[in-house]
Amino acid sequence: GHLSPENEALVARRARVLGPAYRLMYETPLHLVRGEGVWLYDETGRAFLDAYNNVASLGHCHPRVVEAIRAQAGVLATNTRYLHTTILDCAERLVARFPAPLSQVMFACTGSEANDLALRIAKAHTGGTGVVVTEHAYHGITEAVAAFSPSLGAAVPLGPHVRTVPAPDRTRAAPGEVGAAFRADVEAAIADLRRHGIAPAALVVDTMFTSDGILPGPAGFLRGAAEAIRAAGGLFVADEVQPGFGRTGEAMWGFQRHGVVPDMVTLGKPMGNGQPISAVVMRPDVVERFGREARYFNTFGGNAVSCAAALAVLEAIEAEALQANALRTGRHLLERVAAVCAPHEAVGEVRGAGLFVAVEFVADRADGAPDAARAARVVNAMRERGVLISISGRHHNSLKIRPPLVFSRADAELLAGVLAEALQATA
Ligand code: PMP
Repeated sequence: GHLSPENEALVARRARVLGPAYRLMYETPLHLVRGEGVWLYDETGRAFLDAYNNVASLGHCHPRVVEAIRAQAGVLATNTRYLHTTILDCAERLVARFPAPLSQVMFACTGSEANDLALRIAKAHTGGTGVVVTEHAYHGITEAVAAFSPSLGAAVPLGPHVRTVPAPDRTRAAPGEVGAAFRADVEAAIADLRRHGIAPAALVVDTMFTSDGILPGPAGFLRGAAEAIRAAGGLFVADEVQPGFGRTGEAMWGFQRHGVVPDMVTLGKPMGNGQPISAVVMRPDVVERFGREARYFNTFGGNAVSCAAALAVLEAIEAEALQANALRTGRHLLERVAAVCAPHEAVGEVRGAGLFVAVEFVADRADGAPDAARAARVVNAMRERGVLISISGRHHNSLKIRPPLVFSRADAELLAGVLAEALQATA
């Protein structure tokens, strides 16, 4: 593909006014004008199957959410300094979806803000400052959160209070040993913090290890690590910004696969189906000291319009049985993707959970040497053929397939067919 003169002009206009820090996806960037369900439309009216955007998790412009936003925006749009029932309806509906001790929630606008708040709460509760995360984790953009987001790379140094542990990829440990290995790594990280005079505040993990390459790992393996951080006086924080709200199919939240109840859970992305809203859900005792000493006001966090959207999202997930669809369609998608990848030596592994699928490319199957270039070529070849996905992983060599929860069996077939073509075309 090539960029039309009109889109060339948009790229130049962007660079002029938005400056140098933004990045566009795909060799031929997309100019989108409309979305509906699993489809995105460009300026020429061409439809693209969206298998990437987990924010519009119910599908683009879901009528129930659009109507909830419209109705609330037309009546009142204000903040947490007033009594208002929409925030309470939303909060109660949300915490009802969590195991009992996680019964309080605070709202913010982005996943980064939720993680930033979780860190502040953890520091207040534990008196510690140390943070343990996985090697290629991403938790957000604020100065404090970027300091524990190693996927940002060398340009954004980790804080001196941050330690990393390997994510549970297949090169680290046999399936039966993942839990013990992960726990031992977390214990070593905590010991190293202590050696430097730093008390731990939190172990923060994305329970699907999205940025590390989408690594579900064996069910239950997080339990030991959660015990280890608690034994050291820190908190276990589950970052559910990516896996949360039913995507993994088996449960509403990724941590539930592990039979563990976190001390805090952070939420974002799909929470408002595109309306900016995020949250920290926690045990009351965890936030008690922070609440007493620090208070919290976030102008837009918990605003009535965003809460109306989030409430509609929770209702739609239940009304449309979207978690069950993520499980059923996700299984089919994983099977079909694995089948079309099977003949290709370049595919080292196909893995996933629910509507979260990764295809890992290797230059050499024997030593597992990563092939990032092939993964990038496949992503662009699929975009040329009208299916949108992206890349993940420490070595940028895994396809990230992460469609809306309303993805159908037919959509999965379409994706698998296009993936097969893209694999051929890039061999
Ligand atoms: N945590 C995880 C696991 C994420 O994937 C992201 C966003 N990619 C964030 C936090 C940050 O969310 P936001 O971009 O809304 O600040």
